[in-house]
Amino acid sequence: MWADFVQLFFPRACVGCSQGLLRGERWLCSQCLRDLPLTHYHRWPDNPVYERLLGRLPIASAQALLHFRKDSITQRLLHALKYGGRPELGAFLGRVYGKMLADGPHEPWDAIVPVPLHRSRLRRRSYNQSECFARGLAEELHLPIIKTALVRDQATETQTRKDRAHRWENMQQAFAMVNGTAVAGLRILLVDDVVTTGATLEACGRQLLEAGCATLSIACIAEA
Ligand SMILES: [Zn+2]
Repeated sequence: MWADFVQLFFPRACVGCSQGLLRGERWLCSQCLRDLPLTHYHRWPDNPVYERLLGRLPIASAQALLHFRKDSITQRLLHALKYGGRPELGAFLGRVYGKMLADGPHEPWDAIVPVPLHRSRLRRRSYNQSECFARGLAEELHLPIIKTALVRDQATETQTRKDRAHRWENMQQAFAMVNGTAVAGLRILLVDDVVTTGATLEACGRQLLEAGCATLSIACIAEA
C-alpha cells in the first residue's frame, strides 16, 4: 500500500522514455530533460508565437517552453498532464520555465493569469492544467496568481464539428471578466498549456485589456 502511495505521488518512471528514474530525478530522466525540444522564444522577441498574435492583440511579449510534435516528448508530457491526473507535472514544467525566464531578460510582470477551464470540465478533471503550470512559474518568478478575474462561460473546448470561423467566433465569447479591478493597471502574464491558432489567448487577452491591464504577455507550455 505504501508503494502504491509512493508511485501515485512520486512516479518513478520518466514521462518521456518510461525508464526508471534515479534518485534526485523527478518526472523526467536527465537525458530527456536535456533533450527537451526547447523553443528559446523568450530570447527571440519576434518569435512565431508572437507573430501569430501580431495584429490581433497588442502584446508585450509571447513565449512557449516547448515545440509540439506528434509522438514527441512534448505530446507525452501534455497528455500526462491533461489526462493522467498529474497536476504536479504542470507545476514542474512551470518551474523549469520560470527558472529560464528568471535567468534571462524578460518583460516586467506583476501577476500571472491562467486561462480558466469551464467549471464542468474542472469538476471532471479536478484541476486546471494551465493553473498548475502557472503555479510553477509563479514560484520561480515570485509573482501572485490571479484566478478570480476571468471565467469560462461556455464549454468550448470540444467543438471539432464547427468550422473554423464559427469556432473562432464561439471562442471570442467563451470568456467573461468577473473581477476587472483584480487586473486593472497590472502587467499581466497570461498562461495556457498549448498555443495552436491563438484564438483562446486572443479571447482571454482581449478581456484582460478591456479590464485595463497595463501590459499583456503570453507564456505557454508548448507551441503547436
Ligand atoms: Zn527519459
